[in-house]
This record gives sequence, C-alpha cells and structure tokens, in this order.
Amino acid sequence: MTQTLIIGAGITGASLAFQLARRGETVTVIATHTNGGLASAASFGWLNASYYLSHPHYHLRHEGLAAHRRLMEAVPGLPTSWSGCLWYEATGPAQEETASDLAALGYRVDRLSRLQIAERLPTLGPIPETALFFPEEGVADPGVLARALIAASGAQVVTATVLDVTHAQGRVSGVLTDLGPMPADRVILATGTGTPALLAPFGYTLPMLKRPGLMVRTNPLPPICPVVLATPDQEVRQDREGRLVAPASAGHQSDHAETLGAFPVVVNATLQRLRALFPGHDIHFAHQAMALRPVPGDGLPVVGQGPVEGLWLAVMHSGATLAPIVAECLAAEISGGSDSPLLTDFRPSRFK
Ligand SMILES: Cc1cc2nc3c(=O)[nH]c(=O)nc-3n(C[C@H](O)[C@H](O)[C@H](O)COP(=O)(O)OP(=O)(O)OC[C@H]3O[C@@H](n4cnc5c(N)ncnc54)[C@H](O)[C@@H]3O)c2cc1C
Repeated sequence: MTQTLIIGAGITGASLAFQLARRGETVTVIATHTNGGLASAASFGWLNASYYLSHPHYHLRHEGLAAHRRLMEAVPGLPTSWSGCLWYEATGPAQEETASDLAALGYRVDRLSRLQIAERLPTLGPIPETALFFPEEGVADPGVLARALIAASGAQVVTATVLDVTHAQGRVSGVLTDLGPMPADRVILATGTGTPALLAPFGYTLPMLKRPGLMVRTNPLPPICPVVLATPDQEVRQDREGRLVAPASAGHQSDHAETLGAFPVVVNATLQRLRALFPGHDIHFAHQAMALRPVPGDGLPVVGQGPVEGLWLAVMHSGATLAPIVAECLAAEISGGSDSPLLTDFRPSRFK
C-alpha cells in the first residue's frame, strides 16, 4: 500500500488529505500546527475570483468557488457561506473597468446605485455613489474548515516538525522529523511559508514574498454586515458570532507591505475605520491574529511535482479560495490521473 505523508495541516494540507482519502489513499498529516494551520488560522477567508493576476488565475479562482460548493455537498455542516461581496475598492472609471473585465470573463457582476447600496446595507454610514456586487462570493474560516476536512478524511495526524525530506536514487523516501524518521512513498509539502527551507537542500529556490497579515476581530454585534464589504480603505465581514472580522490593511490581497506597524496603532486605526463605516455601534477590540501570508515570488500558486520523484508541492496565497480546487486537481494527478489544464500555469518548474 502506498504511504503518503502530507506535511501541513492548514487548508491546503487538509483539502489534499480529504481528496486523497476519497480516492482510497492512506494518508498521514504531519504538522507543527495541527489545529488549523498557520496562515489558515489568521485568514480573512473571503472566497472570491474578483481579485486575480492573470486569466488562468481568474479561472482557477472561479473553479475554486465551485469546488467549495462541492465540498459543502460532500461534507454536510461545513461553515462556508455565500453572502456575496459589496465592492467599491475602486471608484469611478476604475470601478467600471473592473465590472466590464469581470463580466467579459463570465463573472456575475451587479452594478448598484447609491439607493440600491443603502437598501442592501442600511447600516453603512458613508454611502458611495456606486458599487459592484459579486453574488457568487462568500466566506469560509479556513482554520475551521481545515479541521473539519482532516476529521472527514480520517487521516492520522502527527504533531511534529519536519526537519528534512529524505530521498534515495532520485526518489523521495520519507521525512526526518523531530520525533525521528518517517518512511513514505510520497511526500506532499503543503507547508506554506515553511516550504522554501524544506526545498533548499534540493538546490531548489522557491521565492517567497514577505507579506505579514493582521486580522482584527471585534466584540459580538447585532447583524450589521451581511456581506463581505470591500471599501477603498477597509475590508470587513461579520462572523457567525456577530464579530466584525477585518484585515488591518486595505485591499489586503494585493497589499505589498513587508512590515506591520506597531500593533496598538494598527489595531486602533482599523477600529476607527470600522466605527466610521458602521456609526452608532459600540465597536471594540476583542482579538487579533497575525501570520505571514504564503505568497510565492510571482504571487501565483506553486502546484505539482517537486525536485525529486514522489515529492509534490502545493503552496499558495488566496489558499482560502484556491485550496479546494487545487486539492481536487492535484489529488487526481498524484493518484495517477492526467495533468489538469487548470494547473498548467502554476507549475513549480517556472522557478527552476
Ligand atoms: C491575514 C490573512 C488574510 C488572508 N485572507 C485571505 C482571503 O481573504 N482569501 C483567501 O483566499 N486567502 C486569504 N489568505 C491566504 C490564505 O489564508 C492562505 O493562502 C492559506 O491559509 C494557506 O494555507 P496553507 O494550508 O497552505 O498554509 P498554512 O495555513 O500556513 O499552513 C501551513 C502548515 O504547514 C505546517 N508546517 C510548515 N512548515 C513545517 C515543518 N517544517 N514541519 C511541520 N509542519 C510544518 C504548519 O504547521 C501548518 O500546519 C489570507 C492569509 C492571511 C494570513
């Protein structure tokens, strides 16, 4: 029986464990953070294809939304929801350009007037002249989803640090962990920002951008934000407990900052923006989570065969959106299927 080790228990490793187990594979998940991963546990969790870097990236993200819906059918009770997104990160001609580009790709885009925005979001303080609504978009808490998918996969989970990927005669032979060696026929690195260090001994340099992200959660509030709201200076959603969930940087998906400011300053600035968006509500700080976002050098996912046979890579930002579709495609390839056209532009070989 083929023994597969997945290193990483975030949304990527968990999605792969689920898809491989569905194909009858025996899987063990090893990770330092087994309780929902690292970036996954701090994520905003906005599922979208309205942000994209290329047309293949758009198509992968769009398929990602469909893969989330398939997951919900396969595992009843997953906490994924489809609120849609009210978007005016760009205004004026730039907003119209976004609408036309997305509509040309086949994405569903509603153009909203000021009156329609006020009807849809009556709690909003400053109402813009126009906004776009993306009805296909939604939200998943990737840390929670990761735990649910690992449980559904039935995979064995080991809490350990992988120090090295071992190999012999050009084939992977397992991993060396702080608990000792673990033999395997296949190793899949779903290790986010931990991936470059594990690939370096193979002479493979995976460029990883330094992109810290800070997520702020407030006290529970009455229902005031039923959509993902993306304004020019703040993105926000409301979770099931009524807390506002807000990245500290505007346009966080394309945020290029390599450092965060001092936490109290950044958190207070975020709270002030939230109070301005939803005036009259008693909005307070409750919780913060910080993680480095796993953004490969060109911003695009890195998925496929690694530097030796039997070693596979699945590293990506926007993993909340992308992990389920990447896992569907990669699990099929790993267990002997043909290469997925959806992954063609995202192969590790582009960094050789
Ligand atoms: C603040 C923030 C906001 C975000 N917002 C969005 C969003 O709105 N929409 C979206 O689609 N995406 C978003 N993302 C990105 C998305 O959350 C990530 O792409 C995704 O969570 C990555 O999941 P992962 O499983 O690949 O990595 P991670 O969740 O980082 O998990 C990595 C796993 O690898 C393990 N690991 C690493 N190295 C080792 C080692 N040597 N040995 C053992 N275990 C190891 C860790 O323990 C962990 O379990 C956001 C991310 C952040 C941080």
